[in-house]
Amino acid sequence: MAKKKLGDMSLAIQIFIALVLAIIVGLILGEKGAAFASSYIKPFGTIFLNLIKFIVCPIVLFSIMSGIVSMRDVKKVGSIGLKTVVFYLCTTAIAIIIGLGVASLAKGLFPMIATTDLTYSAKASTSFMDTIVGIFPSNFLAPLLNANMLQIIVMAILIGFAIVVIGEKRDIKVVEGFLDLNEIFLKCMEMILKLSPIGVFCLLCPVIAQNGSQIIGSLAMVLLVAYICYILHAVLVYSVSVFTMGGVSPIKFFKGMMPAIMFAFSSASSVGTLPINMKCVDELGADKEISSFVLPLGATINMDGTAIYQGVCAVFIAACYGINLTLPQMLTIVLTATLASIGTAGVPGAGMVMLAMVLTSVGLPVDGIALVAGVDRIFDMGRTTVNITGDAACAIVVSNIERKKLLKK
Ligand code: ASP
Repeated sequence: MAKKKLGDMSLAIQIFIALVLAIIVGLILGEKGAAFASSYIKPFGTIFLNLIKFIVCPIVLFSIMSGIVSMRDVKKVGSIGLKTVVFYLCTTAIAIIIGLGVASLAKGLFPMIATTDLTYSAKASTSFMDTIVGIFPSNFLAPLLNANMLQIIVMAILIGFAIVVIGEKRDIKVVEGFLDLNEIFLKCMEMILKLSPIGVFCLLCPVIAQNGSQIIGSLAMVLLVAYICYILHAVLVYSVSVFTMGGVSPIKFFKGMMPAIMFAFSSASSVGTLPINMKCVDELGADKEISSFVLPLGATINMDGTAIYQGVCAVFIAACYGINLTLPQMLTIVLTATLASIGTAGVPGAGMVMLAMVLTSVGLPVDGIALVAGVDRIFDMGRTTVNITGDAACAIVVSNIERKKLLKK
């Protein structure tokens, strides 16, 4: 046990060293070395991300199925699902309120950038109803082939339920096989995660080389406000919820989450961070059955950081166009940003695409996205970090509530 702890700690330290090294090397390379970094360093990061992408679908499929099968109770899964969705929606709404509130207070400090020559062609963002329809698979293999997380989750829940129901009448031989497959893929994941320090370095270094100087550029103030909101949300909302409802001290929580936090920061992908997030949350004492359901769902629908970013950017873009957002407009933003963050995929850059939907909902020009597009990656690193931390906080909270319920019984 002690040996295992030591090994895990060193992975966190290794990731941290990789992160610091990536920043230093990225700054040294600077914009002149950015081409080198993107041609020769980034490919190794891409290899690592590919390995993670390869493992993430089977992990989600088998871990959710195994979770449901081991719970052996359809009602329990339903009640966990409900708690999870309520937690996700409430924290996302708080996140966007923080984003809008702080950005409105700091508005006077934002740079006023001319908007006359701006053009941004928004990619078609799907409507809310399309998002709902898109959750349900129409083909057995397509969700796995396209790595469509929500559809994989629906598949896993359906098959898991069927196994539980049939299992009440007779033994199902294939169950052992599924549990074995789950273990096999978890082992693969463990092996791939050993490479995460290299992945972190190779993913982050090119980003710093390219964006390093821009950070100090005109958007520094907007970035700063977004990061203040990210930190505020994490410290206020997650600390309080893990402490009061999760029975874990905030310090222990954030310390345990460090490897996942650093990984999310470097990769800007919630889905990519899923395997390492699962590992951290398990070590923090969350119930495996619960985290195997809550985390994959969160990686796809719970995006508090993205919601904050959308709030801050909406205020900034409105200010540049000389528009003052009214209270009803802000309420519309709370609603649409909550929905938009559900529809945001857990991959780099997805939040910026959904920003178009938020801006349109209050009649702000979508071209305004061009103002923030240049440094989107820097926004993204922070918002992804908040996104995955929120998922983990939910797993801890729901685990603790269920544990208490069991004790009472
Ligand atoms: N990159 C974010 C994530 O994976 C999504 C976004 O772009 O906001 O969580």
